[in-house]
Parts: sequence; structure tokens; C-alpha cells
Amino acid sequence: MKPESTCESVKSSEHPIISRSMSPPKAVAVVGFKGAGKTRVVEALVRELSRRGYRVGTVKHASGEHPLDIPGKDTWRHKEAGSYSTAILSSKGSALYLNHPTDLSEIIPLLGSVDFVILEGFKSMDRIARIIVPSAPRDIELLSNGLEIAVALTSDEETSLYEMDIPVIPVSRIGDLAGLVLEKAFPILPGLDCGSCGYEGCKALAKAILAGKAVAEGCTVLFGGGVRLKVDGKPIPLNPFVRSFIGNVVMGMVRTLKGVGRPKGIEISLDVGELEDE
Ligand code: SF4
Repeated sequence: MKPESTCESVKSSEHPIISRSMSPPKAVAVVGFKGAGKTRVVEALVRELSRRGYRVGTVKHASGEHPLDIPGKDTWRHKEAGSYSTAILSSKGSALYLNHPTDLSEIIPLLGSVDFVILEGFKSMDRIARIIVPSAPRDIELLSNGLEIAVALTSDEETSLYEMDIPVIPVSRIGDLAGLVLEKAFPILPGLDCGSCGYEGCKALAKAILAGKAVAEGCTVLFGGGVRLKVDGKPIPLNPFVRSFIGNVVMGMVRTLKGVGRPKGIEISLDVGELEDE
């Protein structure tokens, strides 16, 4: 089956970026306490969505103590020497170590051109749909934030223990869980709580999306009528006038350039330091 195309790659930069015609991937967080079976659910979802033809990226949340590299290996030694970031490339794949704190908005674009992102962990994130993986019924209340779309269980027998308003699905019925992800997932909202979407904040819009009363495209920061602005990597809300102004000026300027034709997406990166030096 050919998947609906949900995104194109979004390039990352430390400089301000204006992008056109690029949609962020849809996402879901798989949350639960340690040992509940989150990874098993993530693995099953990745397999099922990939089997259906979707390209899936994953992000795992880990404690600060989690070892990211093997002590003594070359990349570890680069980091110990003070590298800000380190990449390793091979014929089988590549890895990028960011040896400094970062956040999800910087990581998601690095996943490349994916249709879905599945987060493992990120319990406190309240701007994305979530699947709860409980180790006991009491976990549900602790892990609920109004954005849960399902409870996923690692064994069939436990299903009778849970009486919920949302679907309770054992991992053996992963097709049903993947179907819910396809139906409900939406892109991670930016978390700026700017109110430009008409809701009091990102969580309120997220709840409205899950209730079928709004769509993610209502987030003017993410979708912005085709114009998105990042300053130092952070998305900035644009009012309709500024959005239209930037879009028209950039499109007008780019279309006068030789060999451009009718562009589908435009990225502009400004290095403020270089501009001020001129
Ligand atoms: S416009 Fe986007 S960033 Fe602003 S509150 Fe709404 S969802 Fe959040």
C-alpha cells in the first residue's frame, strides 16, 4: 500500500530559516514507567507502520546518566576532547552525537524525511498524542494528561483489568494500534503557547484536534500559511500581515532569479553576524 505522504524533509540550521511547502511529520509518544514495556510497543509500531509503507523515525528520552557512547571508542574520545558534536559515518549507516543539551525541535528535523515520529518516554510533553503503557492499572491516572489515544498492553490477559473510555489494545493486535496512530496522530505542536491558533495554548489545540474540533494546520507557527520562521533554532509566531509580507517578498525575489522556475519550497538562512560585518 502506498502511504499518504505526510512530510518532506526540513533542514536544520542554527540560523533563521524561512521554509515553504514543507510539513512536519505526525507523531505519537509512548509513555510508561520504567520496565512497563514501552520499547516493545515502539518496536511493534515501527514494524507495523514500516510494513504498511510508512517511513518512521524514533526518539528515545533518557536520563542524564544514560551512556550515549561506549567509553574508549573513537567518537567517545572526540567528545572527551571537547567536540561540540561528533558524527560517525559508515557504509551501513551513520550516527550523530550532539555533545550538548538540545531539544526536540532541533532533533526532529535531523530524523530526515519521515512520515511518523514515535517518541519513547517524554511523559511531561503535553502537545502530542500519547499511548500509555501501564505496568498496573494505577499507572493510568498518573500518566493521563487528556491527550491519550489508547492504552497498550504487553499481554492479552491484562485487557480485562482496564475499563477505559479509550481503546485498550494488547500488543498482539498491533494492527489496531497502528490504525489509531494513523487516524489520530498529528505533528508535535511547538509549545510556545502563543494563542495565535485561537486556543489558549498548545495543549488546548492538541485536545481540540483529538476531539475532532480542530486540525494541526490551525497552528500558525508550524504551518504559518506556508511561511515559517525560526530564530536561533526556535520557531517564532507570525501574524497574518508579517506572514504574507515575508511570503510575497521572498517569492517575488526568488522568481526573478535565473533557473528557479516554479519552486515548491524555499529556505533562506541568515547569519546575522556576517550581515552586520558587511
Ligand atoms: S499557534 Fe501553535 S504554538 Fe501558538 S499556541 Fe497555538 S499550537 Fe501553540
